[in-house]
Amino acid sequence: MMTNSVFPGPTAPLASRTARGIQEDGTDHALDAVSRTFTGSTVSKSLTPRSEPDFMLAEFITAMPKAELHVHLEGTIEVADMFRYAQRNAVNLPWGTEDELRAAYTYKNLGDFLALFWQGCRVLTTREDFYDLTLAYLQRAHAQGVVYAEMSYAPQNFLPRGITVDHQIGGISDAIAYAREDLGTDAEILVIVQRHRSEAEGLELLDLIRPHRDSVLGISLGGPETNNPPAKFARLYARARDEGYRLTAHAGEEAPATYIAEAINKCKVERIDHGYTAFQDPLLVTRLVDEGIPLTMCPLSNQRLQISDDLSTYPLAHYLQAGVSVSVNSDDPSYFGGYVNENFEALVTHLGIGKAELLQLVRNSFTGSFASSSQIGAGLAAVDKFEQFWNN
Ligand SMILES: [Zn+2]
Repeated sequence: MMTNSVFPGPTAPLASRTARGIQEDGTDHALDAVSRTFTGSTVSKSLTPRSEPDFMLAEFITAMPKAELHVHLEGTIEVADMFRYAQRNAVNLPWGTEDELRAAYTYKNLGDFLALFWQGCRVLTTREDFYDLTLAYLQRAHAQGVVYAEMSYAPQNFLPRGITVDHQIGGISDAIAYAREDLGTDAEILVIVQRHRSEAEGLELLDLIRPHRDSVLGISLGGPETNNPPAKFARLYARARDEGYRLTAHAGEEAPATYIAEAINKCKVERIDHGYTAFQDPLLVTRLVDEGIPLTMCPLSNQRLQISDDLSTYPLAHYLQAGVSVSVNSDDPSYFGGYVNENFEALVTHLGIGKAELLQLVRNSFTGSFASSSQIGAGLAAVDKFEQFWNN
């Protein structure tokens, strides 16, 4: 088994945390079983899933201070708001009622989901829409214990309809400023470059957002992954790096582990969004640990897109055991049935993880972020304080 002794940061190795005693239900054995599944020594699925996270654990999850690093603002439009935005912007929707829209939220794969997601983006038009959307997400995130969020969004969803980046980023930034002041939840913007479009279009996008350089923390790559490998955007990433952006990319969501390696090698990303398929290449998992490259995983998203048909073998447990800085995130929460805490609860239910793993995951959410070192330190201190409070 791999060790996480080289994992950077102030957190204790998993081995010592398990030695402190997780749950009485054999949680560490469960993690071992999943770990072996993904290192190939066994195909055991003999976990003992809980029916539901118990009440205390649900409360623990809500109260944990946490960062969310992988959430798409366009994916936070709740059903009722979809109709509200459509009405105020005179946009016709293909669904007559909220129930019809909810019924459409079943997906065969990523492409199937994106077709619906892009329909939903059509209701967002004005600066006010971007403000309202962002503030609504930050209020929900705040209620779930999120103290810092890196929120992605794809300007290319809106530019073809003539909606300027001034209106998009202006509305989002105003909501961030309000939430920072009023809620005490901090947030940053990551701009998604759509991978099904050309690199030239992506480079044009970098030109368009340059006047807002101070408002955009980083760049990611999103959209339909298969046949759109990271290397297609190597020049774009080189320029973004020169301009000082922090760099991440969606990789290994439904495409193989080679896409993850390519994002690291060709695009020099600091972090991987998803990274689900990393288990296909054990040497890559070791590299993620050795080089401190975090994964922002999204269990309910992977389940709803039929990437992971069984969360009881979800590879997050293996990555955690191996010492990868993996965090838990919601991706497109309104489309996938849960915000960040529902994702934590799904892991408790299906993987049987306990408080020690939950604390490691939220510590990873801070150390894996693009926040300043003082913000990361404050986040880790908040987790320490929470742990001490909970244990007393
Ligand atoms: Zn995503």
